[in-house]
Amino acid sequence: MPTSLPPVEEMLNFASERTGKTIEQLKKAIEEYSTKYAEVIRSSDRLMTYLYLKEELGLTPPISTVPPSEIVSIEEVKKSLAKSGLSTEGYLIRQWTFTTSSQNEAIGFILLDKTGSMLGMLFNEQVIENWKNHNLQTGDFIRLRNFGVNEYEGRKSMRISARTQIEKVNKPPYSIEETATPISQLRDGECLVIHATLLTTEETEYIGCPYCGRKLDVKEGQKADCQKCGEVIAEKQTWIRALATDGTEDIQVTIPPRLVKKYGKKAIEDSYILTLAGTYRKSEGEFMVEYIAMPTQKTEAKPQTVKPSANMLEEKIPLLLQSWNGMPEDKLIEQCRNLMNATEEETRKAIENLMNQGKIKLEKGIYTVTN
Ligand SMILES: [Zn+2]
Repeated sequence: MPTSLPPVEEMLNFASERTGKTIEQLKKAIEEYSTKYAEVIRSSDRLMTYLYLKEELGLTPPISTVPPSEIVSIEEVKKSLAKSGLSTEGYLIRQWTFTTSSQNEAIGFILLDKTGSMLGMLFNEQVIENWKNHNLQTGDFIRLRNFGVNEYEGRKSMRISARTQIEKVNKPPYSIEETATPISQLRDGECLVIHATLLTTEETEYIGCPYCGRKLDVKEGQKADCQKCGEVIAEKQTWIRALATDGTEDIQVTIPPRLVKKYGKKAIEDSYILTLAGTYRKSEGEFMVEYIAMPTQKTEAKPQTVKPSANMLEEKIPLLLQSWNGMPEDKLIEQCRNLMNATEEETRKAIENLMNQGKIKLEKGIYTVTN
């Protein structure tokens, strides 16, 4: 069970009662006592007070036992600055290793739930070992008990310690699809999930580092020196840039080579609806994809509940037809239902209007855009 030191005031009162010394006298004595410790340890008043009471006064203040903490949302975790005792759960969107300035291995990860996402970090060798032993994969739903929050340069992250319990949850309480945010409500710099269909795609290919994607001036399959990763075998790197829509809003999405390689260019481009976790960069007007939840089973895709206006349908149908090089009516109805929650009647009406305006045409049962 996690424990924590009592608050400074509580310990001082306790010592004052036992020794008859005033709080002021105790504070002064603790300050002197602290000088024998290194600066970094000395800066914790709580620890110094505790050690002074124990070592110099022979007193052990009652240590409060923190009950197993309840699971809180990531939104709640972000508001906290607790050094330990926090618990949360969510989908592991990404994990990566990196080297710290002191040349130690570290792990970074992104955890996401229905309220948002947050960065997490592991530094200690033992902690990293423990994390690796759980064999966590991106897309896993995990529960973390007893971790802390660290703030560095205004950015908060979860700090996993040796006392953190890591658990992989086999039956998640909700699907990753259920965490989706409408494109219009994405928040700058935060990793969130969207449901989208790719309207147009564009690929960029070059030879580069299989780990960091850096461009390398060698042929495919040759050894090369990556500035960041050292000696690597150069591989073809394919980026996909696409215009994606969730039916109400469009966004430029970028899918990095590691994901294109993992899922395959064709599977990505042929999916009607993709569930994408990514980080929206407002300044670049871009959604950088971190994880793709490829549909393994039929899921009911309802990206949003807002009813589409007739205008919106008439605007989106030509785009859909263009990106799919035409579509039969039943497919178009299905697409409009999935993407925009449009009824069959509404879609038929929009098709009729577009036909009347000469914007689309019907040939051999396939609707296409009029050139
Ligand atoms: Zn590299």
